Amino acid sequence: MSDSDGGIGNPDGRATLVRGGYVHTADAADRLHPVGSVLALGGRIVAVGDVAEVDAVATGLTAEVRTVDAGGMMVLPGLVNGHWHEMFASRVAFRGALRPPSDVDDEPGFLARGGAMTQVSAAFDSFNDMIAGLTGEEAVAIARYSLWTQLRTGATTLGDTGSLNRPDAMIAAAGDLGIRLSVSTWAADAVCAPGEQRYRRTRDTDRVLADLEALLSAPPRERVRVRPSALYVANMSDELGRGLADLVGRYDTRFATHVAALRNESDVVRAYYGATPVRRLADLGLLSDRLMAVHCAFVDDEERKLLLDARAHISQSPAKYGPSGESSLSETRVISDLAESGLDVSLSTDAGPYPLGGMPEAMRAAWQMHNEMAADNTRVRPSGALAMATRIAARGLGWDDEVGSLEVGKQADLVLVPTTDWRYLLNPRPLEAFLTLGGSIDVDTVIVGGDVLVQGGRSTTLDETELEREYLAALRSYSGRHLRIPEEALRRVFDAL
Ligand SMILES: [Zn+2]
Repeated sequence: MSDSDGGIGNPDGRATLVRGGYVHTADAADRLHPVGSVLALGGRIVAVGDVAEVDAVATGLTAEVRTVDAGGMMVLPGLVNGHWHEMFASRVAFRGALRPPSDVDDEPGFLARGGAMTQVSAAFDSFNDMIAGLTGEEAVAIARYSLWTQLRTGATTLGDTGSLNRPDAMIAAAGDLGIRLSVSTWAADAVCAPGEQRYRRTRDTDRVLADLEALLSAPPRERVRVRPSALYVANMSDELGRGLADLVGRYDTRFATHVAALRNESDVVRAYYGATPVRRLADLGLLSDRLMAVHCAFVDDEERKLLLDARAHISQSPAKYGPSGESSLSETRVISDLAESGLDVSLSTDAGPYPLGGMPEAMRAAWQMHNEMAADNTRVRPSGALAMATRIAARGLGWDDEVGSLEVGKQADLVLVPTTDWRYLLNPRPLEAFLTLGGSIDVDTVIVGGDVLVQGGRSTTLDETELEREYLAALRSYSGRHLRIPEEALRRVFDAL
C-alpha cells in the first residue's frame, strides 16, 4: 500500500486501487478475475475486472490513487452478517468467565435438546432489564469491542437482530469503527410463564414501539440503517406484532425475528399464543418478502407453503448450532429444502457472550453440512457459500442496493485473505482451500467504503490495547454494579488478566 492513511470517510476526490488479487465478485453471474483489481472512487466501485483493464481506468483518473497490493491474496466482497446480536456484556454471568478452568463438564444449554421453552422465554425477557442497567459509557465501550471482533473477521455489514446493548451506543460504536450497521432494539414484551395458559405481558408495548419509532424517524447517518425486529415469536404479544407490522409498512423497511428455531417451540407458542409460529406471523401481518426468518426449521407443511408463497428470507447460523445444542439443519432439513425450492437462504453468525464462529466459519459449515445431508457435493458449492454470506445476505437485510457484491456503483467493501502458504499450494481454487483450512483469523485486510480499516490483521484506526482495556473495565463495573457479581469473584477473573 503506497499510502497507509486509513482514516474513515473517503473524500470524494480520492481513489483506492486494490490490485492484482484473485477477485470473487459474488455478483449474480459469480464472475471471477483470477488476476484482478477493484478500483474505488469516493468510496464506490468504479471498475472491477482484470488488472490491465482496471489499470487503464485508474490511469485516466485525475484523483490521487492509493494502491493496496493484493498480490497473493483472495479478494472477496465485505461479508454481510444479517443476523447478529451484541451480547458481550453477559460474559461474566451465565456460566461464563466465572466458570473454573478445570470444569470440562458441559451441561445441556437452554437451546439444546429441542429447547427449554419457558426458560428461553424468561431469559430473553430478562435482557430488557440487563440493557436498562448499562451506563452510556459502559454500553459504548462494550459495543466498540464487540463490533471490532466482527470487523476483524471480515464482516463489514451487521444486521442487529436485538442486542444486549443500547441502540445509541451501537450507532456510536459503528460510527467510530466505520462498520455498517443495521440497528434494532430488543423488542420483547411477553413471556410464556410455567404453569400458565396464556402469555403474560411484561412491558408496556407502546413504549417498546415508541423506542423503535424514535430510531426509525431519526435523521439518517452514514453507514447506519434501521431494521425493526422482534426478538422471538415466544416473546411477542399480539399487540407488539401488529404494531411492528404497522411500523414496517409505514417506514418501508425489512423485518427480522427468530422463528421456528427449536423443536419444542411450535407446541408452546400454540399453547400460549393460539397459533404455531409461522401462522402467527402471517396472522399478525409480518409474513412477507420483507421478513428475515431466523433459523426457521421446525414448520409443518402448511407453514412451509406460507413461507414459500410469501417469498420470505431465511437466515441460518450453521457454525453455531452444534456448540449450542441446536439442530436447525439436520433434524428437519427444512432450510435446505426451502433453498432448493428457490427461497433466499443466507448465512449469519448469531451471537453469544463469547465470539461464535465468524462468517468464514459459517461458510465452511454451510458448504460441509448441506452437502453431507444431501449426499451431493453440488448442493452448496464454495462460491454458493460465499454468495450466502454476501450477495444473498445483503438482499435479506435490504442493503443489496449498496453492498453484497463487487460491482460498479456499489460500495467498496472488501475483504482480503492471503493465499500463499501450504494450504493453498497447487490448488487453483483458493476459496475452496480457505473453506477447508482457513477461517476468521486469516482475514488480513478489511475495507469499508474505500477506507482501509484493517491491515495485516490489525486496526489501522484504533488502539486495540485500549479498546480491550476499556471493554474489560466496563464489563467489570457493569457485572458488579448491575448483575451483582460479588467483588471477590470479579477480582479472581479480572486480576488474573
Ligand atoms: Zn439470534
